[in-house]
Amino acid sequence: MTAERMKNLHPYVPGEQPRDRDYIKLNANENPYPPSPAVLRTAARAARDYAGRLGLYPDPDSNELRAAVAGLLNRTGGVLCRTELHGGARNGSGAACSPAAQDRIPFAVTPDMVYCGNGSDEVLSFVFYAFFDGDRPLVLPAHTYSFYPVYAGFYAIPLNAVALKADWSLDVPAMLAAANATDSSIIFANPNAPTGIGLTRAQVDAMIAAAPSNRVFVVDEAYVDFGGESCIPLLARHKNLVIVRTFSKSLCAAGMRLGYAVASPELIAHITTVKNSLNHFPVDVLAQRLGIAACEDAGYYVRCAQRVARERESFAAFLRARGWFVLPSQTNFVFVRKDGVDAQAAYRAIREAGILVRHFSAAGIEDFLRITIGTRAQMAALRSVMAQL
Ligand SMILES: *Cc1c(COP(=O)(O)O)cnc(C)c1O
Repeated sequence: MTAERMKNLHPYVPGEQPRDRDYIKLNANENPYPPSPAVLRTAARAARDYAGRLGLYPDPDSNELRAAVAGLLNRTGGVLCRTELHGGARNGSGAACSPAAQDRIPFAVTPDMVYCGNGSDEVLSFVFYAFFDGDRPLVLPAHTYSFYPVYAGFYAIPLNAVALKADWSLDVPAMLAAANATDSSIIFANPNAPTGIGLTRAQVDAMIAAAPSNRVFVVDEAYVDFGGESCIPLLARHKNLVIVRTFSKSLCAAGMRLGYAVASPELIAHITTVKNSLNHFPVDVLAQRLGIAACEDAGYYVRCAQRVARERESFAAFLRARGWFVLPSQTNFVFVRKDGVDAQAAYRAIREAGILVRHFSAAGIEDFLRITIGTRAQMAALRSVMAQL
């Protein structure tokens, strides 16, 4: 009874969200901190206004939100954990922000360079539709965000998955050779998931320069705020670059479903064309207002990202001291394994103790656990469980 194309669907399995017990959730790379106090105040106000506006459609193009996102990027350089704060409360709320020298963007990001969607998963889906054809393979790392193969199936785009290097970083020469052989696009997360390892901006710059210039090159910066290098400055040089980012990780708002793309106005217009052909109003009134409030209180999220990065380093040191192999992470998670520890069994033991982490059964990474960095108290609880393994 189903359409022929249904056979291409291989639905994504997200980190579990169980309701049966109050688990400490370190399995979906969510942010352990609540949204900024300014967002909470805006939420209360917006909920009242919303009731009166419920019958009206939102701004289909999220224009104010796009302006707020552009402002956020200009004030932070697109990397929260290095953003410098001036004034504000102890938790960073209300502080003025300026980018660290290494993150400064050498031009102003403008609202016409930003597309806002209903989570970066939706943005990615529109990017796949707009820029990747079924007549040639899309090049990606063998281990990266597992939604890319799902969308490739949905849109019938063949894949060329390139093995990671022995140190778990991207094999850039092999990816370039693959892309140039078939005149293909490239996509990866930077820093990559689930490894946590990133390429420098200079490395991505050289990679784009050596890739097909007539094909869109996509960099997913879902985790860059926790310590990577943003490729936004490269938009000045590479007209085929699309950068995808999200509010779900560093902006403490996975439940709100907001993500965005940053690219030239020409490429953003193509993504908007897809949106207007499929879902005219992807971002609802509340998400637009709360997203604006989050962008305007970046100082709070700077402090959150810094705390997560500090906690990550101390947790990694703890595990290494106990014989675990911990990949160097620039994200809000660590990817770890230990000789003699069965990762699937360890996942179950940790779950038994009330803490959820992520285990992937995919060949090649089945020995690893991916552990989201939580609050200090959550990590202390996990430490005492893992010390027993
Ligand atoms: C979490 C994640 C996303 C999805 O984010 P949403 O905005 O919540 O849809 C996209 N890419 C990567 C690499 C991620 O880890």
